Formats: sequence, structure tokens, C-alpha cells
Amino acid sequence: MPELPEVEITRRGIEPFVLGKTITGVTVRNPNLRRRVQRNFARLIVGRRVDRVSRRGKYLLLECAGGSLIVHLGMSGSLRVIEPGMPPGVHDHVDFVFGGTALRLRDPRRFGAVLWTDQPPEAHRLMRHLGIEPLSRRFDARRLHALTRKHRTSIKQFLMDGRRIVGVGNIYASESLFLAGIHPRTRARRLSLQRCERLVAAIKQTLRAAIRAGGSTLRDFVGGDGARGYYQTRYWVYGRGGKGCRRCAAPVRRIVQGQRATYYCARCQR
Ligand SMILES: [Zn+2]
Repeated sequence: MPELPEVEITRRGIEPFVLGKTITGVTVRNPNLRRRVQRNFARLIVGRRVDRVSRRGKYLLLECAGGSLIVHLGMSGSLRVIEPGMPPGVHDHVDFVFGGTALRLRDPRRFGAVLWTDQPPEAHRLMRHLGIEPLSRRFDARRLHALTRKHRTSIKQFLMDGRRIVGVGNIYASESLFLAGIHPRTRARRLSLQRCERLVAAIKQTLRAAIRAGGSTLRDFVGGDGARGYYQTRYWVYGRGGKGCRRCAAPVRRIVQGQRATYYCARCQR
């Protein structure tokens, strides 16, 4: 499932091809994505120029004068840059044409979304409840400390609540807590400011490392079959239940929190 780093990598991958370009056409082969594509979608977007390619959480935003094109990759979506007219595969549901290039949305599970809004995107109902961006400067130890004060929930579940912090998925939550030396069951409100400082640094470091690793595959956004795998790395604890901790060799533990697997080292994380 595309997580924040993959969406940011996609943003960087497509930006050079669409920034400053005008949408000259759109083809919707299957409008039945998670949200049905707007009936007048083509009329809403054709002729608009993309002034900014941004991201909010896991939403990609192609900002134009008068509104924004919002793209969500869902569970299995990918965007790639193609020559218009390249024969579509069975899961290639939407093409956005920019003169001599096109962006193609492939989405086998059809949990993605494409829509036009004339509101400021942050005010759109899909986005207005989203929490703070973990890579923004505003996300610092004091902010995390303040955000956690009222929450009896575990810090792991807190991190994954997109209404508080957006885009720290299951993998990155486990990895960040390991790096910060914090036990995933620690109650959010009991974290000291000092531990919040370590955790903020760990979250930023984990997400940035993932984006950097994906950056080396940016060329795969052009052409190809779009089958590019998402970023895989050597995780500290994620997916390593029963194996030795990379730091202390104690067996990595696996527990379930909020129906999601959490991995941690009981010796390194307190
Ligand atoms: Zn350990």
C-alpha cells in the first residue's frame, strides 16, 4: 500500500513532467474507483495549467488556477508518465494528457480516487480532518508533547491516527519507535518532552530515509509497465518477529495493536 514516502516519491517523479503544463485531455476508462469519477470530470479539468504539484498526507494535489486536481493512490495505485496513445492495460483506468505526454493511473484494486475541487484543497472534506504533516517544521517535540497529553491510547496507535499526525503508517510507526527506544505500548500522554524529541527525530529520519531510497527509482516513472515495486528496505524490527534485534540480538517481538501488527525489541524499547 502506498505510504507517505511512496506518495512523496510519486510527487517528485511526476512534477518535472506536469508542472507548468496544461491538461489537454483526459480519458476515464473506468469511473468506478473508490469514489466514482465526477461525471463532468473532463470538462472541469481540460484547459487548466498545473501551477504546483504538492502533497497533503497521501493525497497528491495538482494545483491550478481556480482549483486542484486531487489524486489518491488507494491500496494499489501508481502513476506513471507515458506517451499518449500507449495501449492501456486492464487496470489503467485514467489518463491525463498534457500535450505530448500523459500521466496514467493504474489501480488494480480501484481504491484510488481522482477528483476536481474548486475549494482550497485543505478545506475539502477529504482533507480537512488530517493531522499535522510529520515532515513539516511545525511538527516538533513541543507539538507532539502537546498533542499527546489527553490520549490514554498507546503511542503506536496514536502515531497511526491520521487525525493527529498524517501519513505515519504501520511500518514507519514500528521503525520510529524502535529508533527512539520507546515501547509501543507506552501511553501517549505519559511521554516526556525529552522522549517526544527523540521520537520526532526518529519519525523524520525514518520517512526521509524511505524517500531517499525511493528517489533512486525516479526514472521508473517514465514508460515501463508501471510494475515498479514500492520501497523495500532493511527494517530494524518491522516484519522481523522472532529474529534477532539488529542492535542487541534479543528476539524481536510481534504484538497486535488496533488489529495491526507491531514489532519491537523489549530490550531496546522501554
Ligand atoms: Zn534490541
